[in-house]
Amino acid sequence: MKHFLASTLSATAPLATRGETPWFRWRWLGEGILELSPHQPVARALVLSAGIHGNETAPVEMVDHLLTALMAGEIPLRWRLLVIFGNPAALRTGKRYLQADLNRMFGGRWRQFPQCDETARAALLEETVSRFFLEDERAQCWHLDMHTAIRGSHHLRFGVLPARSAPWDASFLQWLGAAGLEALVFHQHPGGTFSHFSGERFSALACTLELGKALPFGDNNLSLFATTARALASLLAGEPTATCYTAPLRYQVIQQLTRHDSRFTLYMSAETRNFTSFAPGTLLAEEGDRCWRTGDETEYVLFPNPDVAPGLRAGLMLKRLP
Ligand SMILES: [Zn+2]
Repeated sequence: MKHFLASTLSATAPLATRGETPWFRWRWLGEGILELSPHQPVARALVLSAGIHGNETAPVEMVDHLLTALMAGEIPLRWRLLVIFGNPAALRTGKRYLQADLNRMFGGRWRQFPQCDETARAALLEETVSRFFLEDERAQCWHLDMHTAIRGSHHLRFGVLPARSAPWDASFLQWLGAAGLEALVFHQHPGGTFSHFSGERFSALACTLELGKALPFGDNNLSLFATTARALASLLAGEPTATCYTAPLRYQVIQQLTRHDSRFTLYMSAETRNFTSFAPGTLLAEEGDRCWRTGDETEYVLFPNPDVAPGLRAGLMLKRLP
């Protein structure tokens, strides 16, 4: 399999849909979906996804480079691996999504949206990931869903971890630190993200990685992503996680700003960066007689966006964990 990204972007099936290298067999499972299975049995399964938002191209290019290195035998493969380019139709147009945000639809939430390309894609991705993880129920399951953020950030790279009742595995959190994440944000409530789906349904150790700013194909400075790319290459090769890195700061989501209708006003400028702090008691947003304020301690904003569709998240407020 050469040119997986190129064939995805041109909406054409590859010439061959299966094959093998000295390390693994591979199968093309559909547009933007490729499964790699090592010849030697392994008890580890990794879903590596990018391009769930079609304007977030850098992680897509990074995954494509990794895939090229795997196919060339430059990196050994010691995981069963499912590579996913999330929203090919949106990638082709360079838009975040065509009809609705794919990363709000997982866990069956796509049924609540009007039928469109994205609802069909969410259903297909859920089915594909389910089959992949269920193939070996004893396997250790990981899902790394890679994005770039819309706005600037006080932390260049960070991870958002879905709500999880079981404790987080220390080796997973260590790997996220070694991959260059400066902060980890822990959700307390379920959501419609791809990473939440894998965590909830398969107890996968899952994380949404935010790796810098969204730019068009060709404009990405991939050197900014070098630490993450190196950590991914050693992960796939089954090498131990590097130990020399700065431990990420930890934050917990404590409230969500939700836009219900057109009266919603967010008291943050368009330039407000992710992780900007707000003093206790600050008015954050208003809508009719409803208002949102910070509580008794400093809070930090994540993903502020007043222009979302009604009922969706216009921002998350976080507190720092010790
Ligand atoms: Zn994204």
